Amino acid sequence: MNLLLKNGRVVDPANGRDGEFDVLIVDGAIARVGRDLPAEGAEVLEITRGWVVTPGLIDIHVHLREPGQEHKETVATGAASAVAGGFTAVACMPNTDPVNDHAGITQFILKKAAEAKLARVYPIGAVSLGSKGEQLAELGEQKAAGCVAFTDDGRPVATALLMRRALEYAGMLGVPIVNHCEDPSLKGDGVAHEGYHASALGLRGIPGVAESLMVERDVSLAELTGGHVHIAHMSARQSLRAVRAGKARGVNVTCEVAPHHFTLTDAALEGPPKYDTNLKMNPPLREAADRDAMLEGIADGSVDVIATDHAPHHADEKMLEFDRAPFGIVGLETAVPIVCDRLLHAGKISWGRFVELLSVNPARVFHLPGGSLSEGAPADVTVIAPDTRVTVSAAALKSKSKNTPFDGWELRGAVAATIVGGQVVYRHTAS
Ligand SMILES: [Zn+2]
Repeated sequence: MNLLLKNGRVVDPANGRDGEFDVLIVDGAIARVGRDLPAEGAEVLEITRGWVVTPGLIDIHVHLREPGQEHKETVATGAASAVAGGFTAVACMPNTDPVNDHAGITQFILKKAAEAKLARVYPIGAVSLGSKGEQLAELGEQKAAGCVAFTDDGRPVATALLMRRALEYAGMLGVPIVNHCEDPSLKGDGVAHEGYHASALGLRGIPGVAESLMVERDVSLAELTGGHVHIAHMSARQSLRAVRAGKARGVNVTCEVAPHHFTLTDAALEGPPKYDTNLKMNPPLREAADRDAMLEGIADGSVDVIATDHAPHHADEKMLEFDRAPFGIVGLETAVPIVCDRLLHAGKISWGRFVELLSVNPARVFHLPGGSLSEGAPADVTVIAPDTRVTVSAAALKSKSKNTPFDGWELRGAVAATIVGGQVVYRHTAS
């Protein structure tokens, strides 16, 4: 079925467009973008005044938990959560059980995604076998099977030598190495950001330098090898400084920040409620100076991508003491309202920058299709209602897991519709 999106504000920085246009979708691809386009038999979707039509949003950091931890999430429920959050594509981390370190698992994930027929799913393969940090996985075979990047996320790439080899190999394949940067000896058994609040609450701390030390290592190794390193879920101001320095001297380094790291600080751990395990993630919520640095990097272009680090955990697993609960929160369905409310409406970014952070740059960093509404491109489109007020309801999330610290938050900005390959796969229903 063909579709005509009528009268939306189209924001498509890749094509230099920001204005009222119609978008005609024929056979799953963008056929034309222009003014007063005839429907030519296509179904007409009248876009409400003030709503914004963007290239499909892409989240390059999600945990879909399948295979192995289907009680937290499956590829199908994760894809449903993605499209409800306005994401037409996601890239999923390999720390499943078993770890995605060979082609059979990549193919299994792709099969599950094809069956779900919702968001596009791009698997990320493990850097090392079992993500154990010892032996390099078969990156070439994994790329051929469909992996778009490599990481040992959940853990850092263990040694500088392994990182060097991975960057060399992945560099030849033209794909990035994504690193969860954390010096294990400095992280120790820490559970919260090292600082006033962790001390006051009696929680073991993780300093920001635990992250930035490894960012500095990886920037140096990317410089040495010419490979591309992408810094996952950056949280510390010292890391941003290292990324900026690398970029300034031409190193192929990119980075992402998760919504919780530019929204919340470790002060939230004081409650109420105190010790909320939905505020436990890795890297941890940091102090105000770090959050402000992330906001500055997002605004000035040093930060390439906003990615959610969607990390579903079952309620029973999170219902432990703070020390023992697993790290991570879900993020796919809260990202757009948070970015609208805290960045756009707060005047920190423009619509053009919004689309760069959530669509253009994710596509560029992982060499994915998408990121534009160019004629002939797959018709992946997100429609956003920037002024619609939403109250986040953990219970109503499409994700199988409900571990969000944003439950009950009132935010201005909602996903109105998500279109993948010309099919409307999600539509907001007014509550
Ligand atoms: Zn991670």
